[in-house]
Amino acid sequence: MTTYTKTLHLPTRGHTHILDITPQVEAAVAESGLTHGLVTVFVPGSTAAITTMEYESGCVADFQRLMETLAPEDGSYTHNRRWGDGNGYAHLRAALVGPDLTVPLVQGRLALGTWQQIVLVDFDNRPRQRRVLVHILGERA
Ligand code: ZN
Repeated sequence: MTTYTKTLHLPTRGHTHILDITPQVEAAVAESGLTHGLVTVFVPGSTAAITTMEYESGCVADFQRLMETLAPEDGSYTHNRRWGDGNGYAHLRAALVGPDLTVPLVQGRLALGTWQQIVLVDFDNRPRQRRVLVHILGERA
């Protein structure tokens, strides 16, 4: 059993910007040379999240609307009154969706469905430079 870690550097626009990072995760898996194990994708920070969805414009728009319903950007938040950074909604959305995802690696491939992409969601209220860790725990079969 061995580990391989790759850090992705991804510019985002914020405001629930959703990026399909499946190709970058697949590239990290290929670089690792590992064929069986677990792939963890993790975003450090409290205003971004990692999840999966069908990455097409309708689903992206529906997800953004759902988030706006759950925690509106212009809502009233204790965090904003305390810190004045205006991104209370982003912290709540990030906490709900979560910062990480684990995908089984089987015979050299991520065990994703055909219409299931890995996405980074940046909820913050400004553009950011995000780091995403792809951490693989596995072996060569
Ligand atoms: Zn904040």
